[in-house]
Amino acid sequence: MPQAQKQPVRRTKILTTLGPTTDKPGILDAMVKAGIDVVRINFSHGDPEEHRQRVESVRAASAKYGRHVAILGDLQGPKIRIARFKEGAVNLEVGQPFIIDMDLGRTDGDEHQVGCDYKDLAKDLFEGDVLLLDDGRLVFEVTGVAAPKVHCKVLVGGKLSNNKGINKQGGGLSAAALTEKDKIDMQTAIKLGVDYIAISFPRSAADMEYARELLHKYSDDLQSDIGKTIGLVAKVERAEAVSTNEILDGIIKASDAVMVARGDLGVEIGDARLIGAQKNMIKRAQMYNTPVINATQALESMINAPLPTRAEVMDVGNAVLDGADAVMCSAETAAGDYPVETVEAMKRAIAGAEALQEARRDNNRLDCTFDRLDETVAYSAMFAANHLEGVAAVACLTETGHTPLVASRIRSDLPIVALSPSDRTLCRMSLYKGVVPVKFDASKYPTPEVNRAAVELVEEKGLGTKGDYVVITRGDHHCAQGTTNSMKIVEIGEHIG
Ligand code: PEP
Repeated sequence: MPQAQKQPVRRTKILTTLGPTTDKPGILDAMVKAGIDVVRINFSHGDPEEHRQRVESVRAASAKYGRHVAILGDLQGPKIRIARFKEGAVNLEVGQPFIIDMDLGRTDGDEHQVGCDYKDLAKDLFEGDVLLLDDGRLVFEVTGVAAPKVHCKVLVGGKLSNNKGINKQGGGLSAAALTEKDKIDMQTAIKLGVDYIAISFPRSAADMEYARELLHKYSDDLQSDIGKTIGLVAKVERAEAVSTNEILDGIIKASDAVMVARGDLGVEIGDARLIGAQKNMIKRAQMYNTPVINATQALESMINAPLPTRAEVMDVGNAVLDGADAVMCSAETAAGDYPVETVEAMKRAIAGAEALQEARRDNNRLDCTFDRLDETVAYSAMFAANHLEGVAAVACLTETGHTPLVASRIRSDLPIVALSPSDRTLCRMSLYKGVVPVKFDASKYPTPEVNRAAVELVEEKGLGTKGDYVVITRGDHHCAQGTTNSMKIVEIGEHIG
């Protein structure tokens, strides 16, 4: 059997956003080859045909390089935007009055006023409220509301161009999380067979529960079994969502993964509070075994530069140490000049942080009681692997991916080789920290041969060599869901039964 050389395994996953840059010939292939784990298709831009082409390209590149790359369809959500200007943009001076007029024509904006699609804006605002436009680059104070007009004074001026976003400082805009466009896009995402769907701007668990209801309904309507296997990601980007731990916990528990969406969240709560929000969200998600994506401006300067700033490298490293499962690139890969260099820079920044002892050793859950057999086995396997000299990998035979998910909540410097016959499960697990998804169909082997075959795969992937131990988890009834009930430690090269 050919044996690859034992490689150090990157645990923190890299999520990249697709866009015009990654549509250029060879770029996506190079990024998949370089090791990206998840891609984001942004439903704020493009049409179903464009999304279909991107999904096909990702699946083709993954097959070419023998990798499982998950696809995340990111719904636009109720991003509130100004309408358009007659001349495309205006320059606003500090102190000048400016009106947002819900009745103004879509293209009639000028230096005194602009329209807005969100008709309830005037109902949600009061004198003294602060509005942040274009991700906070411009700031308005509300001086009076006379629906359908909102009168403002410019506090921070500058160039304001068509369709820029509006956030209210402190949150409190009442727009529901799922718009009619999102509902149509969700059906497109199901048809395309994406692995995750991201819900933008959820206010509470109820928004995520409603999204899941829709996901199941549309999957039934479309007779799609795949639809029900799609994971839901909550983009935490509203001030309300982080206003109390109770609300945040509700969102985390109602989701399959959460995203620290630092762009909009930073605008709503202020950049200075982001560090606390990020750390708290990652810590709380850890309590509920929910993966976390840390997003936005990670290597922002690489949109136009081949190398990141040191501050950016530190930011990525900090997210790794916080325990994020994945770090995300937005415009760096979607529209930047150096997409592949960005992935390489991410890998270096992650490796630097993962080399630190604190990223590799765990003292979580020492005082917990467990209530599920598969979770108990997952934690036991990680404890054994982390404390026994000579272990090269943990190998989990899995149908749903739950045992590797739970195992991956424990810090370690060992790979968790997740062996599954299901491509859906394999793609979904690509997001989980430290998990290496590998296709393996245990049903092809007589029961006494399964462990040996699994360990051979670990060796073949270069994740262990003769004399190393592998900690295996599996159930008595392989190919059944949620039945993991045993852990076994075997030595590569010895007789394995
Ligand atoms: C964010 O606001 O940080 C985010 C990830 O959302 P989007 O890229 O959709 O603006």
